[in-house]
Amino acid sequence: MPAQLLDGRQIAKRMRERLREARDAFGDRAVRLVSLEIGQNPAAAVYVRNQQRAAAEVGIDMEVVNLPIATTEAELLHTIAELNSRADVSGMLVQRPMPTGIDPRTVQMAIDPQKDVEGMHPTNMGTILYKEPLLPPCTAAAAQQLIVATGMDLRGTETVVVGHSEIVGKPIAVLLLHHLSTVTVCHIGTKNLVEHTRRADIVVVAVGKAGLVHGDMLKPGACVIDVGINQGADGKIVGDVDFNSANEVAGYATPCVRRAPRFRWLGPSYADRCCWAQRSR
Ligand code: NAP
Repeated sequence: MPAQLLDGRQIAKRMRERLREARDAFGDRAVRLVSLEIGQNPAAAVYVRNQQRAAAEVGIDMEVVNLPIATTEAELLHTIAELNSRADVSGMLVQRPMPTGIDPRTVQMAIDPQKDVEGMHPTNMGTILYKEPLLPPCTAAAAQQLIVATGMDLRGTETVVVGHSEIVGKPIAVLLLHHLSTVTVCHIGTKNLVEHTRRADIVVVAVGKAGLVHGDMLKPGACVIDVGINQGADGKIVGDVDFNSANEVAGYATPCVRRAPRFRWLGPSYADRCCWAQRSR
């Protein structure tokens, strides 16, 4: 029997409805998200459009600031400092990729952690160790929400996270620990990946290698979350999991083509974070 698809779009829709109510509770008070983009990048343009659409849907003002491609790191940090001090700005993000000469980590550290809607500031990274993190890294939090949405009892499950990046793999592992899943993190040094994935009830793959995980590497009925985004040979976007074979074995799976919204949009979404930031004042 094919896997039950985890429909991110439906989950996101429900979240936006809930967020609309949360936002309305603020009445006339502004809830504003600022998106900074340096130069112009077609991939970022798609993101920005989707972000604007979702922000409009939940009633959040989104301000898009386009900075020239020649913007230096010092100039960008100055703009961020101004936004940090603006009371009407609830959240901000800097679109990636950033031009050479600008260090994304330095930029992320300059954003006020309370306005850090992507959850990448070291403070927000650190607080995921708490059971109730402030603003956890967004992709990891979204993967967690997809898993929770299956309704599986996560206590005592075996989770294998493939990939140990700072922004995805490691935070997912920590977030799933809070559900009392037993978590193993696999990476480039892992000797026999299949030995791990085959015993996992939940497999989260965040590597950036198309087709790294196949159906024959999975335990029947497993929940498979494919975070990877790769350009397939035919130009289509594919994940890290070979969808067709995985779909035959898994119990739950993310869709093969990312018609679902970006994980970053699921949760806690930017809108949620903006509301949170506003509440905390
Ligand atoms: P990353 O920083 O490049 O990390 C990839 C990780 O995979 C590293 O920990 C790496 O280990 C590990 N790895 C590499 N080859 C491996 C192998 N053969 N077996 C096991 N682990 C291996 O990438 P990322 O930022 O985490 O992103 C991962 C993927 O998710 C990318 O495709 C990215 O585009 C996608 N992504 C999607 C979203 C979304 O919203 N859906 C958001 C962010 C990222 P080493 O460091 O030891 O080499």
